[in-house]
This record gives sequence, structure tokens and C-alpha cells, in this order.
Amino acid sequence: MAHQNGSFPRITYQQQLQLLQQQQHQVLLQQHQQLHHRHHHHQQQQQRQQNQQPPQLQQQPHVSTTIVGNGHVTGPQNQRLSLTPSSTRLCSNPKQDHEPDNYEDLQLGFDPRVFSSLEQYMPPDMLNKPRDVKAQYMSSILMRYSSEGDRVRIQKHKEYRQKIISTYQPLCKEIYTMDAENFFVPSFLDAIRENTEAGFRRMMAEPTKGIYTFEMLKPEFCEMIMSEVDNFERWVHESNFKIMRPNTMNKFGAVLDDFGMESMLDKLMKDFIRPLSRVFFAEFGGCSLDTHHGFIVEYGIHRDRELGFHVDDSEVTLNICLGKEFSGGELFFRGARCDVHVNSDSQLEEIFDYSHFPGQAILHSGRHRHGAKATTSGKRMNLILWCRSSTFREMIKYQREFAGWCGECRRKKRERERLSIAATKQELLKRRMAL
Ligand SMILES: [Zn+2]
Repeated sequence: MAHQNGSFPRITYQQQLQLLQQQQHQVLLQQHQQLHHRHHHHQQQQQRQQNQQPPQLQQQPHVSTTIVGNGHVTGPQNQRLSLTPSSTRLCSNPKQDHEPDNYEDLQLGFDPRVFSSLEQYMPPDMLNKPRDVKAQYMSSILMRYSSEGDRVRIQKHKEYRQKIISTYQPLCKEIYTMDAENFFVPSFLDAIRENTEAGFRRMMAEPTKGIYTFEMLKPEFCEMIMSEVDNFERWVHESNFKIMRPNTMNKFGAVLDDFGMESMLDKLMKDFIRPLSRVFFAEFGGCSLDTHHGFIVEYGIHRDRELGFHVDDSEVTLNICLGKEFSGGELFFRGARCDVHVNSDSQLEEIFDYSHFPGQAILHSGRHRHGAKATTSGKRMNLILWCRSSTFREMIKYQREFAGWCGECRRKKRERERLSIAATKQELLKRRMAL
């Protein structure tokens, strides 16, 4: 398995934008004909490098990719230190009933929604300051993790999206706006409306610790999404538009946010996934999910075959099977791990394989290590929603104790307790002998 050679990939999306820009630059420098082969080679090299990142790189703090651009590598150390005094920081106790300002109309260089959700974590004396003062305070925190290059990349990404949306003609307009009655099966809708843990548990199964499966999408909606994606792929092919793939590990598939589904998926996350995550993924930031990355992956003979063992760049991942007919493609899970223990072995009780079927959803922590076995025949299409919490990502930087959700941290803690009990017994025995 991938983690045995000392590398463990965290799949991200933004590295692709970097790659795309490098490629565009090369096109300017060299003749197109000569380039084709080199591109391919370069891409493979890049992919290899990304897959072989040493584990210590992954221990660095990271903020949501919509904020920093590349998702898991911060700017140069000296820059981080010089920008703001360390007293500029968030509080671990949010002011729950705080009504945040709206930052949509300001030119801030970061997603305005991040400001609204961060606001309640600001020091109490900051909360009643004017909006621009608050914005500046939060910007200075976010800037520590974002270099000039990252901000240029974010701007380029915006332009890239606008270019697609202004040219691409959607096939099924009705799926671009949230329409719960037509998207979801009644059992799912009822449970979300009831909004209690008991109600959620009635409609879902937890086949292994931290993994939830449930029926979610209507077949008609699955069909429409798949047709839309096929239509989009056709447009990409015909117009020769160079698109970014969903992440560093999939060569096929499309980013739904890039061609107009961002606001629909944002609603999906906030109104349907956050209520579940609040209950089942509180320790992973499930209460404060505020941004997402929504995409389609495609597996089959002429698509990606399988997906290596990895962790996601998300707090909570929703993975829905859309169709069509296929065999193989089982998902395999091997326990949640913190950055320190991401390469450690799995315990027997953490080993879990799952066969997906259309309409069915699986919800798990992004830190839950997983992969997909080869799809041996037919075509398999899945909708993936990476849900992120910028506050959670900021807060975990202040925490240095062990992670209660990491299987290896828990195992090590039990081992320490066992040793300490044994040592105490030994000591008592010695004292008794001396008497
Ligand atoms: Zn750990």
C-alpha cells in the first residue's frame, strides 16, 4: 500500500491550478507540437513528487484551500512571523449568539463567507468594532498562511471560472438551484427536517466507527447530474478548453463548482450536511463547516481505474454514488489518523470495505484513510463534496495534545496507561518485599 514507502498523499485541488499556469507558461515559450510529450512527462513527474511528500510536510498547519490556495503548505516562515504580532489570534471559545457582519461587498482577497464564520472567534473586545477593523484583524490572521503567489492564484482561479461559466451552456438548468423535494429521497428529507440524532440514526447505518451510509439522491436527479457532466465533458472536448481535474489523484472528472454549481452545493453543505456533521463529526470541526469543494470522479475502462490510499483535504467528506452499471470499485477504509500517525498500521477493527450503489451516500471524516479498488467493468460516477471549516483549521494550530479521534493516538495512550499501571504494581511489590 502507498503508505509503506513512507509517503502518504493528501489529495488537494489547488496544486493543479499551479500546474495549469506552469503549462500555459511553457506553451508560450515553446512550440505546441514539441510540447505534447513533455507536458505529459512533466505532469507525471509532478504527480510523483506530490505523492512522495515526506510525512513531515503534512504536519505543517494548513488552512482551507479557498483561503491559501494550495491547501497544505504555508508561506515562508519569516513572512509568517513578520506580518502580524502573535497577539493577533482567535479565541477557542466562540461567542455562540454573535450575529456576524456580511462581508460580501468588500474586496478582501479571501472568501467573504470565511470572515462571517470566523467573526465569532475574535477576542471579545474586537466584536463590536467597525466592520472594516474586524475585516483587517481577520485578514491579518489569514495572511499568515497566504503568500502573494497564493493570492495571484486565487484571482486566476476566479477568472478561469468566469471564462467557463460565460461560455458553457448547461443542459439541465433545474439542477443548478437547490430543489430538495426533487433531489432527495423522502427518508433523507424527513430526517433532516426532524433534525435529531435519533432521527438521523434511523435513516443511516454506521457499519464501522465514524462511517455513515444512507440513501440520499433520487434516481432522476442522479441521471440529470450524470447527463450534465457528460454534456460538460463534451463541451470541454469540442471547445478544446483546458480544464483542471478535481484533485491531484484523478485524471478524469470535473469540478462542479467551476461550471456553476457552487451556490447549490453550498446550500447542500449548509442545510443538509452540516446538521449531520454537527452531531457525528463535532470533534473534526463538523459544527463550523463553511466552505466546500464539489466534484465528480469517473472510473472505468477509459477513465481512472482506481484511487490510491490517501486522506482528503476536508474535515468531512460526502461521497455519493450516481451510477451507472459497474463491477468492482469497492471503497476501502483503514481508520482515521492525525498528521503524525498518518502512515501507521491499521488495527483489525479499522479495516472496512464497502460496495457503493447508485443514490447511496457515505459520510466520513477527511482524516479517515481510504481508497477505491479498481472498477473492473462498466462506468462508475461519484459526486464528492469536501466540506471544510476554516475555524477548525485555525484552532487545531493552537492544540498540541493528542487527537482523540486518531486511532494511533488512542492506542499509544492506552499503551502508556498500561505501562504506568504495570510500573506502579512493580513499585508496590518492591515496597512490600522490603518490609
Ligand atoms: Zn495521532
